[in-house]
Amino acid sequence: MNVNTIADIKDLLQGCYQDKPAIVASVGGSGTWAMDMAGPGFPEGMPETGVKTAVAFRQVQTPFGPIPVVKILIVDGSPVIRIPVHGWRFPIPNLNHTNATFWLLFHLGIKEVIVDASVGGIKAKPWDVVVPDDVIINNEAKLKILELTSQIDGDSRKRMAEPFCPTLRQCLIAAVKRLPGLQEVFPHAPLADLHEKGTYYTMPLTVFETPAEIKDLKKRGFLVVGQSSGQEALAARLCGMHFAVVNPVVNFAEGLEGASWSAGETMADLYTRIAPTMGLVVIEALRLILRTKTNCRCSEYASATDLTVFTNSTTYRE
Ligand SMILES: [Zn+2]
Repeated sequence: MNVNTIADIKDLLQGCYQDKPAIVASVGGSGTWAMDMAGPGFPEGMPETGVKTAVAFRQVQTPFGPIPVVKILIVDGSPVIRIPVHGWRFPIPNLNHTNATFWLLFHLGIKEVIVDASVGGIKAKPWDVVVPDDVIINNEAKLKILELTSQIDGDSRKRMAEPFCPTLRQCLIAAVKRLPGLQEVFPHAPLADLHEKGTYYTMPLTVFETPAEIKDLKKRGFLVVGQSSGQEALAARLCGMHFAVVNPVVNFAEGLEGASWSAGETMADLYTRIAPTMGLVVIEALRLILRTKTNCRCSEYASATDLTVFTNSTTYRE
């Protein structure tokens, strides 16, 4: 099996794109995974968009384990890093996969990251799409993702104000709004309502929720539930990156409306149908991000609490 290292990716970027360093990444989740896992791949399944894969690396080594696939996409002439399926390995995803993904992106110099990942709807319904502006992060994720700090020379004390970057969120929102206008050129399944803000509740990375858990989350006012965005928002902040997610709602969460899928589809049918739509959202968002200057406080939040002067052991008084 082919095994690559971060040096291979850096060499390629340096050799081919010296004048255009890659600073943007798309991390694929269950929004596009039907294309990546059972289909032709993303963006290979959407050649009409003009976005191409320049090169794909396999089994890229990291201190947190290998990432199965890392691609360099060319979007409007600029290199963009693409990691499919959060870099996870099924059937048992774990939090080290998130650490591996962000370790790699950090050491490649990536500054802006978007993720497409499906969610269960608590106050949103199937085929709605959400660009959340806040997130609950569970304690298991907080503790495990902190292990990333030792591998990026980072400080664990970060403010988590605005966990999702307002600039990237606006690009994702604008991309979703462009979908109807793209229907003739790129046929795709239309989405229902767009939620331009709302809170994502991150459950631990295990089984799906019980009806009682969802009843509780609904009472507390959360819009959607998933298992990935919390740890990714935390990892991105530790790495000092701008970060946002777009979440298609694929089902009512457990106990609501019979947890039904849209129009009686199976879970696999729905993922297959929604993947090209979310692929278009990702491509449109990347195009916008590449030509938009960030106007946000993400960097300030990531550096506001630099306490290394107190925590560096070499500064101890005798
Ligand atoms: Zn930002």
